[in-house]
Amino acid sequence: MLNTDNFIISDYLGKTFSCRCGKEHFVPIVSIIIEPEALNKLPDMISSIGCKKPFLVYDLTTYSIVGQKLQELIKLIKIPYTSYVIKDAEPIPDEKVLGEVLIHFDPACDFIVAVGSGTINDLCRFLSFKLNLPYMIIATAPSMDGFASNVTPLIVNHMKTTYEAHTPYAILGDTSILKNAPIKMIAAGVGDILGKYTCLTDWEIAHCINNEYRCNELVTIVNRSIQTVIDNIELAKSRDSKAISGIMEGLVLSGIAMSFAGNSRPASGSEHHLSHYWEMMFLFQGKQQILHGTKVGIGTVAVLKAYELLFERKVDFTNAESIALSYSQKDWETQMKLTYFDAADSVIALEKEIGKNNPINVLPRLKQLEKNWDEIKKIAQRLPSADAIRNLLSSLDAPADPMAVGIDKITFINSFLVAKELRNRYGLLQILFDLGLTQEIAEQVWEYFQQ
Ligand SMILES: [Zn+2]
Ligand SMILES: [Zn+2]
Repeated sequence: MLNTDNFIISDYLGKTFSCRCGKEHFVPIVSIIIEPEALNKLPDMISSIGCKKPFLVYDLTTYSIVGQKLQELIKLIKIPYTSYVIKDAEPIPDEKVLGEVLIHFDPACDFIVAVGSGTINDLCRFLSFKLNLPYMIIATAPSMDGFASNVTPLIVNHMKTTYEAHTPYAILGDTSILKNAPIKMIAAGVGDILGKYTCLTDWEIAHCINNEYRCNELVTIVNRSIQTVIDNIELAKSRDSKAISGIMEGLVLSGIAMSFAGNSRPASGSEHHLSHYWEMMFLFQGKQQILHGTKVGIGTVAVLKAYELLFERKVDFTNAESIALSYSQKDWETQMKLTYFDAADSVIALEKEIGKNNPINVLPRLKQLEKNWDEIKKIAQRLPSADAIRNLLSSLDAPADPMAVGIDKITFINSFLVAKELRNRYGLLQILFDLGLTQEIAEQVWEYFQQ
């Protein structure tokens, strides 16, 4: 039986674990190396997979950081290679950039090397999956937790959607490079991990209310990933190599939990849904994007505050039932068109398929909520306070409220109302909807951020 108590990162790899949850957990990553000068392992790694010609993908930033060094390293093993540099310092993972990389892909290549963090990983994970080629990651910043993940978030038809993909063959995290990443990227990695608090709470409540699959061992792994990051925050501020390595390990671990689960449930909850909605709105408005983990950090504070406000109050379940019964699909569709613009059709199609807002599904959930109220209150009360996480983000000079990154009140309130429509995933935002309390609590959370 899977027991990860004394595991180091390499113990998670290459084995199939039978688990008490009834699943077999497996992550097909062959190698994860997080250490100073890890880049020097690249030639051996490329040789070990029998690669004849790698395709290296950079953006302008990552090329300037490691482009030259990687070319010198590949020359050591005397094989040809092709590079493509995306002509953007901060590309977006959408159809356009994906198409751009595909157009420049060299079909003689048999291995893809993603050089960067975030978007570059998302693009290469998806492209290599579709091309049925192995890929590896050379991380340049500990800025997000998707390194070891087997799913990939892309923006398609203006909609942030998670697609099936595959895990990398290897992950190289050279701490001599990672520690020099801009502090806002390190803080974003921390923000992505802080989101696991609310995400695990959403998952536990979903298990309690809807009997959704949940694995205790995966929860343990994600909790360990949170702890590893928290333990290293102080020293990371001074760019201590060991602390940065700890943060990178925590981020990788969270991705392993996602791969073990086969979906993003262990690592993405209401805080991520808020973040996805803000990202889509920024794209519609042509605004400069904010780092994923920065948004998740702010989303986490918002969700923590909403949980606090929800359980401070006395909930009127009879009133909630009558609100649920007065639901109008037509009015809801109008609301989607006003809040999702060009992405409204995809959101409406998803709801037609699953009907999560239909009273047929809401009323039984309300019954379960009422019956288990004290138990889920106890689950939520184990969370850190919104103030504690807000202060922690501020201590890293990271934005800790929506206004600091240019999210206005309308976008913020709308995100509480409709971000949950991007996925069929029960959590805080759906609970507020079911209880008919979203608008009121969202307004209160916004007020909290004004203090
Ligand atoms: Zn399990
Ligand atoms: Zn994330």
